[in-house]
Amino acid sequence: MSETFFGSDFAQLQSTDPEIANVLLDELTRLRTGIQLIASENFTSPAVLTALGSTLSNKYAEGYPGKRYYGGCEVVDVAETIGIERAKSLFGADHANLQPHSGASANIAVFGAFLQPGDTYLAMSLPHGGHLTHGAGVSYSGKWFNPVHYGVAEGTENIDYDQLRDLAREHKPKMIIAGGSAIPRLIDFKAIREIADEVGAIMHVDAAHFIGLVAGKAIPSPVPYADVVSFTTHKVLRGPRSGMIVCKQEHAAAIDKAVFPMMQGGPMMHVIAAKAVALKECATPEYQKYVKDVIVNSQALTAGLAAEGMRPVTGGTDTHLALLDLQGIDVSGKEAEQRASDSGIVLNKNSIPYDPKPAAVTSGVRVGTPSLTTQGMGVPEMAKIASMIGRAVKTDNPSVHAQIKAEVLDLTAQFPAYPRS
Ligand SMILES: *Cc1c(COP(=O)(O)O)cnc(C)c1O
Repeated sequence: MSETFFGSDFAQLQSTDPEIANVLLDELTRLRTGIQLIASENFTSPAVLTALGSTLSNKYAEGYPGKRYYGGCEVVDVAETIGIERAKSLFGADHANLQPHSGASANIAVFGAFLQPGDTYLAMSLPHGGHLTHGAGVSYSGKWFNPVHYGVAEGTENIDYDQLRDLAREHKPKMIIAGGSAIPRLIDFKAIREIADEVGAIMHVDAAHFIGLVAGKAIPSPVPYADVVSFTTHKVLRGPRSGMIVCKQEHAAAIDKAVFPMMQGGPMMHVIAAKAVALKECATPEYQKYVKDVIVNSQALTAGLAAEGMRPVTGGTDTHLALLDLQGIDVSGKEAEQRASDSGIVLNKNSIPYDPKPAAVTSGVRVGTPSLTTQGMGVPEMAKIASMIGRAVKTDNPSVHAQIKAEVLDLTAQFPAYPRS
């Protein structure tokens, strides 16, 4: 079977390693024939994939442009320098480090730059929408440091800034982290800056989820407020699977040293080149329109799911993602994930704030619209998808799931991911 999407070298891979060539084809088929609602995923451009599949992967380049520990870095230096300049310009940042291998790697570098083992910091609790690297017991961030967690208020389900301020005054943290992976609403960066200033803490925003919306100028930026902003590059931002850090000039040297040599070895130059490609794409009017559409779609999908009896946590969303409480339809997050999957719809179970069910079961699901919007779907399709999800999760009848799967195939045929050229 031929596949033009992967380019001419794919035929060679098919002959030398058909098993892995088939995995690449099967994954492409999976993307083209399903509805992808994972809020942290997106479909990168062929240009980004080309940079990822390049010989820059071979190059050892420990250090930074112009100051490397290896010879022969003059070519890859160009890619990293262009990427740094694009990041600074796109985010209006003093300094950018493109070397973190992932969001988790970016975060450990921030810890390395500002904290000593045992130090106290404040972060959003995981069950209220935070992240494993913000102090979960199973993570370095919980094992080697002393996290104190704030959460959302029970009534509004929004960040409880009064609690955050009280905890900051009580515990005098060295750092306050804002951000998480299941926060549907905007964060008040100004309020957190004021609290950080009052107690003399570093303000770290982990913008992994929403940085793409910032890049496309659809929501306010944390960059003017935060000492340091870390993020992933593969979520709404639509770049390669990786991480990045931007910060104020006064922290530039500490961040660079914490990424390399404190936490990482050689940078992945092919990924850095791919990040540069993505950053250029993010500066276009097309990308700005894309992120506005992502939010419009997210709000339409959320309204449709609410009409199906799935309650949006906080009442709605300002971003690319929504968290739905399924207690009203008496379905667990785990059941919903499986039933949607049986119907060709990929979403994830997710704890909701004050969830009575354990993390392996949950009372909620998280959905996001970055991938569907990249495929070109709009508000009418969100209404159809909300209805499909509603029908899928409320039954365990396989024939209903098979019927929805056929509808998914119809829809994805009209809006293909990675269209055949
Ligand atoms: C996704 C995410 C990360 C981790 O990114 P990886 O690239 O998977 O390591 C860190 N923080 C937040 C808030 C995230 O959403």
